[in-house]
Amino acid sequence: DDDVALLDGDWGDGEAAPGEAPKPVLAIIGRPNVGKSTLVNRVIGRREAVVEDKPGVTRDRVTYPAEWAGREFHVVDTGGWEVDVAGIESKVAEQAEVAITLADAVMFVVDATVGATATDERVVELLRRSGKPVVLAANKVDGPSGEADAAYLWSLGLGEPHPISALHGRGVGDLLEAAMAVLPKVSEHGELRPTGPRRVALVGRPNVGKSSLLNKVAGSERVVVDEIAGTTRDPVDELILLKGVPYWFVDTAGIRRRVHQTSGADFYASLRTAAAIEKAEVAVVLLDASQPLTEQDTRVLQQVVDAGRALVIAYNKWDLMDEDRRPYLEREIEKELVQLTWAPRVNVSARTGWHTDRLAGAVERSLESWDMRIPTGRLNAFLGELVAAKPHPLRGGKQPRILFATQASTRPPRFVIFASGFLEAGYRRFIERRLRETFGFEGTPIEISVRVRE
Ligand code: GDP
Ligand code: GDP
Repeated sequence: DDDVALLDGDWGDGEAAPGEAPKPVLAIIGRPNVGKSTLVNRVIGRREAVVEDKPGVTRDRVTYPAEWAGREFHVVDTGGWEVDVAGIESKVAEQAEVAITLADAVMFVVDATVGATATDERVVELLRRSGKPVVLAANKVDGPSGEADAAYLWSLGLGEPHPISALHGRGVGDLLEAAMAVLPKVSEHGELRPTGPRRVALVGRPNVGKSSLLNKVAGSERVVVDEIAGTTRDPVDELILLKGVPYWFVDTAGIRRRVHQTSGADFYASLRTAAAIEKAEVAVVLLDASQPLTEQDTRVLQQVVDAGRALVIAYNKWDLMDEDRRPYLEREIEKELVQLTWAPRVNVSARTGWHTDRLAGAVERSLESWDMRIPTGRLNAFLGELVAAKPHPLRGGKQPRILFATQASTRPPRFVIFASGFLEAGYRRFIERRLRETFGFEGTPIEISVRVRE
């Protein structure tokens, strides 16, 4: 059963602690037997024997913490990945592609005593397309006489081949130095999460009640900014406590300064909205519960989703809601907001303060989802079950297989699925629905992209 090819084990995804920059990821890739595992052991300073005699032994971890010259990073070890001997060439390319996706930089290992093979050339092509930085290791150069073999590998077009002997440690220091020179300081797979209060945008069309709500939530609990250590402050942002937790409400100056209805005001209002969303981690979109949903409302909601920010929907002016309107509101939610059922909804009244205390919980839950990472092993186990329960529909007698998936980033969660064929939109939506049912993700958009290998 190879519906999901590489799904076992604790992948040890290199997750950064809150407030810590995610460590960059170096993947070590190459054909079987070129010496990847031996090299990984050198790099991570592992003494115990990890090079198994049996080929195709799946190891329990894929990423390992490593350090070189004071730099901390993670190593993705592809050495133990299942290799099915029949389709060896395609498997190598497949695994290389997964590893490249996970990586910030790649160490490509070639056996200098063999030279570049057709499979190596295919991997080079993948590397070129990825645009990721690469260092080329010419392995099994156990002595000076092998240096000439290494020089042949200039032909791969990846720059200088670094002659090494992973077995004896020869040249490994220079190779790592070259790798550190191209490895970014911080992983792209997750933004640097700043410490300090998180950033909230309060947005919505004019007159929906933004300034009223801002006054309500700020009024009760004012914060002396200097009390919060280590915060840099933008004068248009305001620090406001929600249930005792400080948040930056971004661009509040624009809300407080009443903008007069002059020509072009709409345009500037929407620019300001976009800027606030961009600056925030979570957006609270205010809708007027007493009025029909407008195009402007849905545009603001879409802006939040497109920007990949966490979302809370707040129905304001609930005090004006009369029971006759209730069914219309429900119908609007089912029809026009059906794509946003994952966003928490709170009904509030900025005027009376009714339920405004519920904003805090919704904001917190959405941010938690926005930050969430599903470990690769769990994700693939989940997909394995999903595929078993409901396989992709047959297309022309063929069935695209899901080979492997990984969460490439958080904030918002982004998933990459590797499949043997195109996945229909309906099936992708099914996957998203199941992801949400299984893992939650309340309040955050999710991105799923599919990479198809020919
Ligand atoms: P992988 O399949 O790419 O992970 O390769 P391994 O690390 O398992 O190594 C395959 C074989 O090559 C093993 O027998 C290693 O001992 C051997 N090997 C690895 N590096 C070197 C090296 O620098 N010189 C020599 N002579 N043999 C090596
Ligand atoms: P903004 O343009 O989004 O900042 O909206 P404002 O806060 O200025 O509110 C516009 C109008 O709606 C004002 O007259 C407010 O008093 C009124 N308003 C705001 N929130 C509520 C509410 O919860 N209930 C009622 N009845 N009126 C509200």
